[in-house]
Amino acid sequence: MTTTAPTTRTDPLAYLQAEIDDLRAKNLYRPLRIMTGPQAVHTTVAGKPVISLSSNNYLGLATHPRLVEAALKAVRELGVGTGAVRTIAGATALIEELEQRLATFKHVEAVLTLQSGLTSNSGTIPAITGDADLIVSDELNHASIIDGVRLSKAERTVFPHRDVDGLDRVLKEARAKGGKSGPYKNILVITDGVFSMDGDIAPLPGICDVADRYEAAVMVDDAHASGVLGRNGRGTIDHFDLHGRVDIQVGTLSKAVGVMGGYIAGRQHLKDFLTQRCRPLLFSTSQPPAVAAACIAAIDVLEQEPERIARLWDNTRFFKSALQNLGFNTGISETPITPVIAGDEAKAQLLAARLFEEGVFATSVIYPTVALGKARVRTIVTSEHSRDDLQTCIDAFEKVGRELRLI
Ligand SMILES: *Cc1c(COP(=O)(O)O)cnc(C)c1O
Repeated sequence: MTTTAPTTRTDPLAYLQAEIDDLRAKNLYRPLRIMTGPQAVHTTVAGKPVISLSSNNYLGLATHPRLVEAALKAVRELGVGTGAVRTIAGATALIEELEQRLATFKHVEAVLTLQSGLTSNSGTIPAITGDADLIVSDELNHASIIDGVRLSKAERTVFPHRDVDGLDRVLKEARAKGGKSGPYKNILVITDGVFSMDGDIAPLPGICDVADRYEAAVMVDDAHASGVLGRNGRGTIDHFDLHGRVDIQVGTLSKAVGVMGGYIAGRQHLKDFLTQRCRPLLFSTSQPPAVAAACIAAIDVLEQEPERIARLWDNTRFFKSALQNLGFNTGISETPITPVIAGDEAKAQLLAARLFEEGVFATSVIYPTVALGKARVRTIVTSEHSRDDLQTCIDAFEKVGRELRLI
């Protein structure tokens, strides 16, 4: 029997087009960026050669020859796919090796890797919390943490952004009053290590102290700190010397590490439990051999080429102070993430469009990624930008900033 759609059939998804039109009218529609060059400082976007300030490829590892070679070797020897989830068809031994290398690197007992930082958060949080528990999350945490919290049966609340006293008040009340079914069994405090849109760093020492006081577990999402902060890029916990005081560290292999994937670092029982309950591990196919091999090579590079991180921070200081001296509002960043805040959504989009015409690829970030009225162009310098590259970008920002009366 064949079926043909009657031509008179109305499109049940027609409302999507109305939503899209509405987004366009409000300057909230984000175009996809088509890159024909590699993810590097000098690349080609929409057919135009540009200097990129848009990627999270902080250390240039996305095109590092050692990572590329490692990936090619793995493809030749092991093929391109893994064929199933780890608990069913197994996974390449390279993943085990990567997890051991990461555990040693991060000074933890065990690491579990997953397909992305997003699935690391959205898979871990609901797996380790239940209906007698409470999750307390920084109000500006990443969307993948919010997804994880939504998937959990636990009660949830937020604490004011980076506010240790605010967290103390929330935890004090939670311990005193309990939840719907009596005292909370477990409380999980979650924060980004580095906040991705403003580039500010969580006050982790204070957060750990407060969490200890109320016997709460601490989880840190270190996506933008992995490879950037701490010795050899070990992250925020190393930056603050808090080893042993953060129960769960989530990291990404997709940003400074240059490849793709996410990981959860902590105690052995955390990893063992997640292998039984974390849905992205149980129900989604594991990373291909080339990805694991390239990530292992990336750890070698982090250990052996610390000068990349030194260059990243030199470039950060140079670029940030130049923009500030020109009079741009760069917010409260303490890291290589430097937002140039325009406020108005249309203005931020125009700023990005004009910069692009001037050969600088720096994307606008708008609602809902940031609050309405806080629209910006977010820049991230890398270790691979030369001073000339950065000066070209600064000159473009000056020209366009004056045009748009941002400075
Ligand atoms: C980018 C990011 C993620 C997601 O990482 P992917 O590996 O790209 O999925 C998670 N958390 C934070 C804070 C991020 O910035």
